[in-house]
Amino acid sequence: MKLPADKVNQLRTFYDERPVCVTGGAGFIGGHLCDALLSLGASIRVIDDLSNSTVEHLAGLIELEPDRVAFVHGSILDDDALAEAMRGCRTVFHLAALGSVPRSIEDPQRTWSVNATGTLRVMEAARGFGRGMQKRSTHVERVIAASSSSVYGNQPELPKVETQMPKPLSPYAASKIAGEHVLAVYAAAYGLSTVSMRFFNIFGPRQSADSAYAAVVPAFTKHYMDGEAPTIYGDGEQSRDFTFVSNAVLAMLLAGATQTRLTGQAVNVGAGSRTTVAQLASLIARECGATQLSPRFEPARTGDVKHSVADIGLAKQLLGYEPVASLEVGLAETVEWFKRSFAGR
Ligand code: NAD
Repeated sequence: MKLPADKVNQLRTFYDERPVCVTGGAGFIGGHLCDALLSLGASIRVIDDLSNSTVEHLAGLIELEPDRVAFVHGSILDDDALAEAMRGCRTVFHLAALGSVPRSIEDPQRTWSVNATGTLRVMEAARGFGRGMQKRSTHVERVIAASSSSVYGNQPELPKVETQMPKPLSPYAASKIAGEHVLAVYAAAYGLSTVSMRFFNIFGPRQSADSAYAAVVPAFTKHYMDGEAPTIYGDGEQSRDFTFVSNAVLAMLLAGATQTRLTGQAVNVGAGSRTTVAQLASLIARECGATQLSPRFEPARTGDVKHSVADIGLAKQLLGYEPVASLEVGLAETVEWFKRSFAGR
């Protein structure tokens, strides 16, 4: 992933030799964030329970940079593991969560426990009060957490602006808005610098295509590559702000480094443009050379929102964020990665 040249110096000055904790760093977005942090000179400590990822990518980073990468194999619900992961860290990127709206509909308690209670545990550890920590042993100055566009629900106003009242439609979205409130409270009550990034449909290389809860881009790509028609839930006219992962990573890095006071704000992170799921399917079919395969249609799924696109004005204003990769460029890179990885199957 290439960072924009005009931002690299600013980011390197901040991250070089900085000890940083990444929760969920073995996952899709976390893995790309770790790559970028290492390229900027940071030392990273990752905590992940590998419940939705493998250690493969991280193991490669440890082999390359054994002195700058540490891995704690554990859960954010385990205070001792969290204390170990945050030891000496000044910045925490909190991405560990159970993603997927359908999974949360099936198992709301587990989603709540990891995403909402887990975020509280992360914040307790960040202020140095987790079990297994000596009081005030923390060095953490700022926590940047991954939230989700799903918090907006089905309100008709587009684009989604942070001033709109959230209306979660799924246990996943409820757990994410709870996490945002936790971050805001730790800024207000304990003076920690915090910010929640509302990610809009992030996609890119290494995103899991295998689970029943796979996101739409890897799911469609895998189908087309296997010579099968993908399934669209609903009429295909539902739209999303599909955002290449380099944009999400850049926004997180800027949020970690900015001199702007961050006091628990929720900030949209998207590309700022809207594509229907049917259009997405045909773009991916073209990249895969599978335009002869027409999607199958199934009824819409509970909890899915109809339309979503980000207003990215606040991210621009607070963080100096501008998307660096378009949907087309991101899809080409993603499909290319899937082709290489499928060739090795
Ligand atoms: P991912 O599943 O690839 O990454 C999450 C990581 O967290 C995984 O490696 C998983 O093993 C780990 N994890 C889960 N439970 C854990 C626990 N109890 N303790 C420690 N680690 C645990 O998902 P992702 O797409 O990389 O998402 C990263 C973050 O961004 C999540 O918080 C997600 O909710 C949020 N988000 C993602 C998207 C998207 O489109 N991918 C959109 C909105 C928000």
